[in-house]
Amino acid sequence: MPLTPSLLNSLQRDFPHITFRESDAFSWSPTEKAVSYSPTDPDADALILHELSHAILGHEEYPKDVALLAMETAAWDHAKGLADTYKVVVEDDTAEANLDTYRDWLHARSTCPACKATGYETTPRTYSCVACSGSWTVNEARLCALRRYKIHPR
Ligand SMILES: [Zn+2]
Ligand SMILES: [Zn+2]
Repeated sequence: MPLTPSLLNSLQRDFPHITFRESDAFSWSPTEKAVSYSPTDPDADALILHELSHAILGHEEYPKDVALLAMETAAWDHAKGLADTYKVVVEDDTAEANLDTYRDWLHARSTCPACKATGYETTPRTYSCVACSGSWTVNEARLCALRRYKIHPR
């Protein structure tokens, strides 16, 4: 379902301090206090509530990768509450499919490139392997940026 026009109107009315702007992807910009949305996305209602939830929860920087997954999970939980308030549907499948992309991403980042054991993030963006003592760095990632890459399409 594309974006419900009355939902957008309600959100603009109820969150006057947040800018809602049409785009080709969904995102939340803490610096601009802006939610970007793609009105034709099949999950548009769910995704705009998810981005708004990042705004309401005050999500900005994340210290470590596991914190990013925690933020994504919290924003989906909050979005389900908003869906009740605004009488739209957020399917559990939509939330789970999006969270799966983060779980896959976290798994890929924490896998030791040398021996394939699972490492842990010792300092932000640096992982260490308990099996072979190797270490590696990863790129910074951004909230909600993963789904564009369709790591785990369904
Ligand atoms: Zn290793
Ligand atoms: Zn998100």
